[in-house]
This record gives sequence, C-alpha cells and structure tokens, in this order.
Amino acid sequence: MQRNGLYILYMSACIGLLCLLASPPCYGNSEAKDFILVIDAGHGGHDPGAVGRISKEKDINLKVARQLGELIETECPDVKVIYTRKRDVFIPLNRRAQIANDAKADLFISIHTNSLAKNHTAKGASTWTLGLAKSQANLEVAKRENAVILYEDDYKTRYAGFDPNSSESYIIFEFMQDKYMSQSVHLASLVQQQLHHTCRRIDRGVHQAGFLVLKASAMPSILIELGFISTPEEERYLNSKEGINTLSKGIFRAFLAYKQEQQARTSTSAPATTATNSEPPKAARATASVSLPVFKIQILTSSELLRSNDKRLKGLKDVKHYKEKGLYKYTYGSSNDYEQILRLKQSIASKFKDAFIIAFKKGEKMDIHQAIQEYNEHK
Ligand SMILES: [Zn+2]
Repeated sequence: MQRNGLYILYMSACIGLLCLLASPPCYGNSEAKDFILVIDAGHGGHDPGAVGRISKEKDINLKVARQLGELIETECPDVKVIYTRKRDVFIPLNRRAQIANDAKADLFISIHTNSLAKNHTAKGASTWTLGLAKSQANLEVAKRENAVILYEDDYKTRYAGFDPNSSESYIIFEFMQDKYMSQSVHLASLVQQQLHHTCRRIDRGVHQAGFLVLKASAMPSILIELGFISTPEEERYLNSKEGINTLSKGIFRAFLAYKQEQQARTSTSAPATTATNSEPPKAARATASVSLPVFKIQILTSSELLRSNDKRLKGLKDVKHYKEKGLYKYTYGSSNDYEQILRLKQSIASKFKDAFIIAFKKGEKMDIHQAIQEYNEHK
C-alpha cells in the first residue's frame, strides 16, 4: 500500500471486546497431509506496504500469518502449511502465487493491512476475492496492493505491461473466468463472519477486485485486509498481542469451517445435509462439533530457540515446538491416532529415551489422560 503522510488523530472510546475463542475442531486423515494451505504475508523486505505512525504493514501481516500458521500446524495434523515468507524478506508478487501453484495448494490466503490516503479515516476488516471491482474505492484497494510490483526491476516484462496505477490495465479482469470463485467467495464470507463476531471488527464485507496475486494462483484464494493502519486506534490494535491473537484465531476458525465443509463434501460417509457453497452462514453453522485431541511426542525442552540442525535434535526432521512458561518445548509427530503416536515414540526411543506423549485440543495443551480417554471413546 501507499505511504501516508499525515493522519487525522481519531480517538475512539471503543473498547475491543476480547471473547473467549473456542475453536471448532479439525478432523480428518491424521497421517497424510491431505490439505495444503499457502499463507502469504503481504509485502516484506524493502517493500514495507502501508506505513502507519508506529508500524509497517509488512510486520503486522507477518505476525498474523505466522500465528495463523502455528495454530493450524498445532491443531490440524493433516494440513501442510506453506508460507510465502517467514521472515522480513522481499518476495515478488508472481513468485508468491508460483509457490502455491508449485505446491498444488488447496487454498491460498494472503494477509494485508488496509490504508487510506491522508484526511480519510475508516475502520474495519474486509476480505477480497478475484474479480472486477464494482466501485472506484474497491479498484483503489487493488491498485494499492498491485503497486508492489513497482518494487520489482523487470515488472514491465514480468507482468506483460500491466500498469498497476492505470485503470485501463484492469480491463483484463473484466472477461476473466475464475472457476474457483464460489469457493473463494464462500471462504471470504466465513472469514468476515469470524472477523466480525469473534474479533469484533467492523464488517466491511466481501468484495471483488483485480488483485494480481490472486489472478496468478490456480486455486481458491482470498486476500484479507485486517484493518486500517492509517487509523491510529486500529493501528494500535493491529500491533497489540490481543489484536494479533484474536485476528489469527478468527481466520483460523474460518479456515477450519471451510476445510471441514470441503471434507464433508468429498467424503462418502458425510451426512447428506452438508450445506452448499451458496449458503455461507448456514454452512458455517453446519460445521461438525466433534473435537478430537491431537497427540504429539515431547522430546526436549530448551530455554532458547534451537536451529533445525541443532545436535540436540539428533537429526530428527519435522520437529516442531510450542512455548510454555517461557520454555521452548520440542515435539515430534502429530496425529489424532494415539496408537500411531505410541508406535512413533517407540521408534525414536533409542535416541530420546525420556520422550513422552502430550495432547492438544483447540490449540491448547490438555490433560493426557483425558485425551486418551476421548481417543478410546471415538476410535
Ligand atoms: Zn498490502
């Protein structure tokens, strides 16, 4: 987004309500990674995105993207999360889509923060899908986001002469067929419901506009504008722990609802009453209420963050960690199947003889005995 110079100081007495976020469960095949999600933190490196009074868009986007990814990795053993960036680096726009296309991802979620030019103020979250902008204001959002290609040296050849600032360039979106449109719009509406009800954000709705990053990705894809960095009150929220936490959980819950509907639709054992794309609110309510514990093996605790090649990990690949009481706790394996994790634990017993099994539900650690009992009841 463009840099804004001056801001009207807009003070609001609105107090953000933090609700307890009971996440819906993630279920499915716990052994194979049968769903690939690409999370795209907008901007990065020498492209700061929109710049506020106390922060830059690129940093807000990255924090929410990473936290969202961690929630999904903890909660959904069957989902492979791929990040277009996990650090403060510049990634060309078409490269972001290419990462998703190469991975044959099932879903692409791009995370951004909105901004208005000086003397304008607005609040709220919006979610966007690919399409033709219906208003000048909507076109402006796409223009600001697409302007990131101007940071790329060879953007004229790379984007076939597309000028992000020229309205004429956007004619290419007019006759475009997007076969993923209904899925994208459905997910976008689930995200908006969560951002509104769970995160207490003003609902600015689901919109379409010509975003290059969405055009280049060959799967259902959305772009979320979390809030306005140009509005001081929202900027403070977007930079607060509570804001990052709540926004991540809201998007997480929308993702789960979307994924569960997809699974229910493709599963032959799914109930016939599964809602369809055309009825987003009903579909969200139809989400299954089964919540299964996720078992993992805790292998190691450290007061510092370890590199993936640290010798204390003894060459084990795909080691994850969570934080508890200021310590990094390293885990191996992740499954709803307790017996599978038990076998996995035995397979690494020679290397990690003190390893033990732990369980999570809704992203929170839970009592292992309770978890095993629930596993036995549902198997
Ligand atoms: Zn942006």
